[in-house]
Amino acid sequence: MTGYPLPPGSTIGIVGGGQLGRMLALAAARLGFRVAVLANAAGSPAGQVSAVEIVGRYDDPDAIARLAAVSDVLTFEFENVPASALARLEPGRIAPPGRALAISQDRFEEKTFLNAHGLETTAFAAIDTAADIAPALARFGAPALLKTRREGYDGKGQVWVHAASEADAAFAAIGARPAILEAKAPFVRELSVIAARGRDGAAAAYPIGENRHAGGILRTTRAPATVEPGEQADALRIATTLLHALDYVGVIGVELFQLADGALLVNEFAPRVHNTGHWTLDGCEVDQFEQHIRAVAGWPLGPTHALAQVEMTNLLGDEAAYWAALADDPTARLWLYGKTDAAPGRKMGHVNRLAPLGRA
Ligand code: AMP
Repeated sequence: MTGYPLPPGSTIGIVGGGQLGRMLALAAARLGFRVAVLANAAGSPAGQVSAVEIVGRYDDPDAIARLAAVSDVLTFEFENVPASALARLEPGRIAPPGRALAISQDRFEEKTFLNAHGLETTAFAAIDTAADIAPALARFGAPALLKTRREGYDGKGQVWVHAASEADAAFAAIGARPAILEAKAPFVRELSVIAARGRDGAAAAYPIGENRHAGGILRTTRAPATVEPGEQADALRIATTLLHALDYVGVIGVELFQLADGALLVNEFAPRVHNTGHWTLDGCEVDQFEQHIRAVAGWPLGPTHALAQVEMTNLLGDEAAYWAALADDPTARLWLYGKTDAAPGRKMGHVNRLAPLGRA
């Protein structure tokens, strides 16, 4: 059994080789850890900056066992790792816990869990066949959003249903898979809160971020968002309720819808570091990646207050081709992920722009 806190020189194993793994690996290295990653192809963004890169499938328990064999503790940057692939590991060796991963992978389980812990979501219903859509639509009103229960991200696997007559086509459009129908959330803003819980049960949350999406993909986060003190307290209540209910260790990203009266609904949570927390890299003393490594390694959590006002902009597809101009811009702090194939919409990097606090 691993003893915590893990001393520097220990190895952190990360399942997933993308940009989140890369930034986790960089943070871990800064604290003196070695990093091993499991990536699905050699030369991954995370593998480029890690001591060990194991190439294998995320759903292969043998590949995960190979990673575990060289690691003192395991974590993941990618939430579609099948919980079953982690089942062979001792519970203390993986953080966040597999249960958080399993719940977040199924939108019906996730919203049911949230509601059971007093956290409000938009109304939803399980959809197993196209015939389930009309009665749920009658309850929620049109339009309502049909989402696959599993494996949706960045707006994929989702379709709006405007009338019961669209039920068959909508169900076919998402691949005729188990789904949920969600009432349209009448939100005025999309917010998120990045929070963490340590192995000692201490919890901390960063200031709320305000997010803008285009085509289902995050474009910008501005943080700290302009919110009432009660709203920040509400976000903290939501995050800490969730962290304690899941007996969580690590960083969690909680996406929120804010209604016209200020109330916050939970859209979903991600049991990992989150794109809407990239502003912390330049806006906080301890960013979300270091915070996650600290938690996983059993170190104390670091401070979460903002030192600056930050606007984070994702660089998608060929936008990263303008790296030279961004490097020449003294207001831009540039993060590039080491990806070579700039497919449209692919997250290639991001830019943080800082302003003094209070001058958003
Ligand atoms: P998700 O994959 O659940 O994060 O949804 C992607 C985006 O779709 C969200 O960021 C919202 O902009 C929008 N969306 C998701 N669910 C709803 C909903 N119930 N009502 C209105 N918009 C939604």
